[in-house]
Amino acid sequence: MDFAAKIRLIKDFPRPGINFRDITTLLQDREAFPKAVDAMAGLCRGIEVDLIACPESRGFILGAPLAYAMGKGLVLFRKPGKLPGKTLQYCYQLEYGSDALEVHQDAILPGQKVLLVDDVLATGGTMAAAVELVKQSGGQVAGILFLMELLGLGGRDKLGNHPVLTLIKCD
Ligand code: AMP
Repeated sequence: MDFAAKIRLIKDFPRPGINFRDITTLLQDREAFPKAVDAMAGLCRGIEVDLIACPESRGFILGAPLAYAMGKGLVLFRKPGKLPGKTLQYCYQLEYGSDALEVHQDAILPGQKVLLVDDVLATGGTMAAAVELVKQSGGQVAGILFLMELLGLGGRDKLGNHPVLTLIKCD
């Protein structure tokens, strides 16, 4: 299936000059969405995984069905103040300003192999923060999986030597 064709391009959103890749058009397609999840799971064949973890919020949309399809538990990386238990936090820089992700302290056990999942790899800043939280937790990054990679933004370069798997690549 041509998954790239299922994702709508919206120019100048949320700011002039940004080519926004709108995945809602793929999600609302009852054939494309499950096929994309299955294809993403297929990319991970051969990688040993104990847990799937995903950043808020579009990471949840793909992380949850992948955890179900792969028979793994799901860990949520959330924006500050959302998780009820004790958390670890990592702050990171955005193009303008900064942001942070949190994870429950006891969500990832030392030595667990974690597959990180998000929708779009752009600058890589969000996923680099997720990688740091896995490390703070004592876990190992087994792989990093995206529905779509925006080539040319250099996101991959922020993700170290971990295997980075992407279903769709676009300019
Ligand atoms: P980044 O930290 O720059 O890799 O991007 C973080 C998140 O922002 C991605 O996981 C996407 O959910 C979203 N995002 C960034 N750039 C785009 C884009 N051009 N189109 C759609 N979503 C984007």
